[in-house]
Amino acid sequence: MSGFHSTYPGGRDTARAMLGGLRTVPALADRYSDLVALDSLEDLVHVPVMFKEDLNIALDHLQPRAHEGATWMFQSGGTTGSPQLGFAPSGLYMSEVHDQWKPIGPDDLFVNGWSAGRMWGGHYLVSAYADLTGCTGIGLGAVGRAEYDAWLDFFAKRRVTSFGGAPSTLRQLFGHARETGVKLPDLRTVLWLGEGWHPQLDEDIPAVAPNARRWGLYGSTETWVIATNTPDCPDDTWHPLPSQLVHIGPDQLIDFTSLKPHGLNPVLRYQTGDAGEWVVCRCGEPGPALRLLGRRDGIVLFRGFGLDVDATIGDLSVQPGVSRIQLRMTTFETRLDHLEILVVPARDAASDLAERLRAHILSGGFGPGVLFQNDPSSFEVRLIDAAITNERTGKSANLIRLKDES
Ligand SMILES: [Zn+2]
Repeated sequence: MSGFHSTYPGGRDTARAMLGGLRTVPALADRYSDLVALDSLEDLVHVPVMFKEDLNIALDHLQPRAHEGATWMFQSGGTTGSPQLGFAPSGLYMSEVHDQWKPIGPDDLFVNGWSAGRMWGGHYLVSAYADLTGCTGIGLGAVGRAEYDAWLDFFAKRRVTSFGGAPSTLRQLFGHARETGVKLPDLRTVLWLGEGWHPQLDEDIPAVAPNARRWGLYGSTETWVIATNTPDCPDDTWHPLPSQLVHIGPDQLIDFTSLKPHGLNPVLRYQTGDAGEWVVCRCGEPGPALRLLGRRDGIVLFRGFGLDVDATIGDLSVQPGVSRIQLRMTTFETRLDHLEILVVPARDAASDLAERLRAHILSGGFGPGVLFQNDPSSFEVRLIDAAITNERTGKSANLIRLKDES
């Protein structure tokens, strides 16, 4: 058995059509040309895995258009430079999610707290989901710390029952609510996606909203929603949607094949860098559940966001006055991650080098630039005399990771 199973209707034909499409992409034709037609999904074992770069080359050539309605373009987590794009039709494939996952219904008052704009998918994805539930919705978007008190007061008065946002947003909002003694007894559900869950939320949410429980979505802009979980599942364990063919290969690396009819991104054995294993979920849902084991590539998670260490260093190293860059990331038990950008200045460096680099990072409209704009205190630029080296090996790493237990 190759590990490629699905009973999703028309799945083999969808996979065949994607393979046919990828063969028409000049830069990718060679790697797909030797493959015979897929007689069954089991034959996917012969198809090479693809990565984000391959998908972007394919999308650039294929320029997919929705079967009906509008075609939407979103940004798919590029870390430096120009955006990498993903496409989706109106509705963002959310009806399948709604069939499987029901944290909210017609009686709910739901606040959508994902950042809107900037081509991020989360806000629009959950908005499309909310349309299917018949709830009353509030499009909040990202709000700054200075606005928290007024909004929390509004949520309490309006008796908001559901709130959704990225875990780093939830951390800040619920942390503030707890500190200031806000109570939200009507809140029943907290929706999350886009980042890993943060254990501090398991303490802050019950203190603020004792009746609220977490409901998660897992996916990416390329694959769209892959899997769902409920409050009864561990926060790293997920139930795939029927249209998502999830395969775990060597080194526990996961690849995804989308069997949705009329899917726009040609997701055919697409590897995101996430590793996983099959488990039985404690919620009692029959069938295998996917437990995520973290990432297995050069991308590290910073506040739940994939930070490409080499690309970030490459980008900063070519700035005027820079001799060497290192990243030092500190993770805390009770606070969000903090990033220090350590800079060894060149001899001719301007005296305001640190300020210039900081402005450069904040001006990057994509990837970590947005993360840093949302919370400029999440990082600092620090000038150092010499690169930090490992005393034992004499090597100086691009990334130094510290864990603060205090
Ligand atoms: Zn479960």
